[in-house]
Amino acid sequence: GLVVIWAALAEAKYMIYKDSTKPLNSRIMDLMSRMTLEEKIGQMTQIERGVASAEVIKEYFIGSVLSGGGSVPSKQASAETWINMVNEFQKGALSTRLGIPMIYGIDAVHGHNNVYKATIFPHNVGLGATRDPELVKRIGAATALEVRATGIPYVFAPCIAVCRDPRWGRCYESYSEDPKLVQAMTEIVPGLQGDIPANSSKGVPFVAGKRKVAACAKHYVGDGGTTEGINENNTQISRHGLLSIHMPGYYNSIIKGVSTIMVSYSSWNGVKMHTNRDMITGFLKNILRFRGFVISDWEGIDRITSPPHANYSYSIQAGISAGIDMIMVPNKYKEFIDGLTSHVKNKVIPMSRIDDAVKRILRVKFVMGLFENPLADTSLVNELGSQEHRKLAREAVRKSLVLLKNGKSADEPLLPLPKKATKILVAGSHADNLGYQCGGWTIEWQGRSGNNLTSGTTILTAIKNTVDPSTEVVYKKNPDADFVKSNNFSYAIVLVGEPPYAETFGDSLNLTISEPGPSTIQNVCGYVKCATVIISGRPVVIEPYVNLMDALVAAWLPGSEGQGVADVLFGDYGFTGKLSRTWFKTVDQLPMNVGDRHYDPLFPFGFGLTTNPTKTI
Ligand code: BGC
Repeated sequence: GLVVIWAALAEAKYMIYKDSTKPLNSRIMDLMSRMTLEEKIGQMTQIERGVASAEVIKEYFIGSVLSGGGSVPSKQASAETWINMVNEFQKGALSTRLGIPMIYGIDAVHGHNNVYKATIFPHNVGLGATRDPELVKRIGAATALEVRATGIPYVFAPCIAVCRDPRWGRCYESYSEDPKLVQAMTEIVPGLQGDIPANSSKGVPFVAGKRKVAACAKHYVGDGGTTEGINENNTQISRHGLLSIHMPGYYNSIIKGVSTIMVSYSSWNGVKMHTNRDMITGFLKNILRFRGFVISDWEGIDRITSPPHANYSYSIQAGISAGIDMIMVPNKYKEFIDGLTSHVKNKVIPMSRIDDAVKRILRVKFVMGLFENPLADTSLVNELGSQEHRKLAREAVRKSLVLLKNGKSADEPLLPLPKKATKILVAGSHADNLGYQCGGWTIEWQGRSGNNLTSGTTILTAIKNTVDPSTEVVYKKNPDADFVKSNNFSYAIVLVGEPPYAETFGDSLNLTISEPGPSTIQNVCGYVKCATVIISGRPVVIEPYVNLMDALVAAWLPGSEGQGVADVLFGDYGFTGKLSRTWFKTVDQLPMNVGDRHYDPLFPFGFGLTTNPTKTI
């Protein structure tokens, strides 16, 4: 008698899904068989940290929480503060009946950019110029460690957009206008997640444990092809064009085991991607055999209609039926949960669609070991902003710089600059501003609050660190011509460019450098030998001033390690970067991409002069 009761109890307690020695599919199927509809729909719901709490997560069986666009616990929050926050949410999830862990996600798009004192790497446009996928893979690995250092296992990166028009405010999030270069840079995926084992079947997500994170390729698909680069707008292109320009990065990401894919706000030939069943279910899931989960963009379901949320019941049906598995911030999450529940009960959405979504979400959670290690620990906190990662970022900065002009004639190069000089001038709005160097997606979504956002080295400081102690460095943000004429400068370095911006706020039809940049260039370069360094997320209007300059360098958005710029300007390293984008003459040439019939750029895609290092290291 007793033995029978004991055996029955043991069986009741034994749950296959909790047994990490069991095959993945058995664990998924076992857990699915125990779940109610309510628990399943909770898994599909991702809420913003600002509305999350252990109680809410427990009550609604919430599957995921995020920090959207710079939503931070406090600007200078420590790694421990982040860990405590994530763990508190996780305890809510673990205290549910089945104890399914939630997954916390964050935008780590150039390092762990929402977190104070993290290493800020160059934005993707600069990484494209390095032409170095192996470097980008190492950046992925460093980013994974810094993200895990704050207890977070999931990033909304990489952005594998192929930006075809620099007027797009997200152009700097794109590695290149060239699909092949973007495809090569998907090496960031194994950097973030680890190398997929050789015997894995195609499309199965992979994350190699606690020092790696789940990645998210975004935004599927055609986000970088919208008309005039208008953010979230319509991409008008043939199927062949879509597949050959915007899709290749997804093929490679999937082969490398990417865990999740985010849907684009944009439309393709007038159809919102968030409703595009043919492309999400038909192409991505059935043809490409992607087995991870598809996540919407922020309020992506709400924004299916305009104005957003106008017909929410329809939007829920359209988005879920298209094949979206996890909904990032349904603006009113309770309404979303109720709406989806009634669609299932009324058979508007089949149970099989819900099961597909939940299976995918659970697959990622199992694969990454979240059931075995749901709570963050403090063992990695020293990885945040470590010296090693800063060294790596500095290397990336050096390799991202593109030398566009060197000397008024080729036999009189200005660069590399001598470290020993009597007196040099450093000028421009971008010389001493870490926030400008980092660009958008740095602590804040728009990255606008300037110099004291986080820790790092401005280019001015880097120049001072680099020159000979006998060289006098004069810094003047916006000198007038008289000042320049009346001083006997050996040479000048001018740093100008764009202010920080993100997403739609960066859409621009004129692509000019910000004031008073043009007059700074004229006042300085008109009267002294000058090297101009452009800090920008994309090519900008520069043609009217190029003749004035003795040298011109594109530095993109280099991030926290400004020392990398001085390393190359002063010749410790040579210039090696090549344009990842076509540099236009005038904006009315846009869009203009490599391979176009009427290609008449100021500097073509792939262009970049080189210099030899003056010092052997
Ligand atoms: C962006 C995504 C981002 C998400 C969460 C959206 O506005 O389009 O790229 O991952 O916000 O911050």
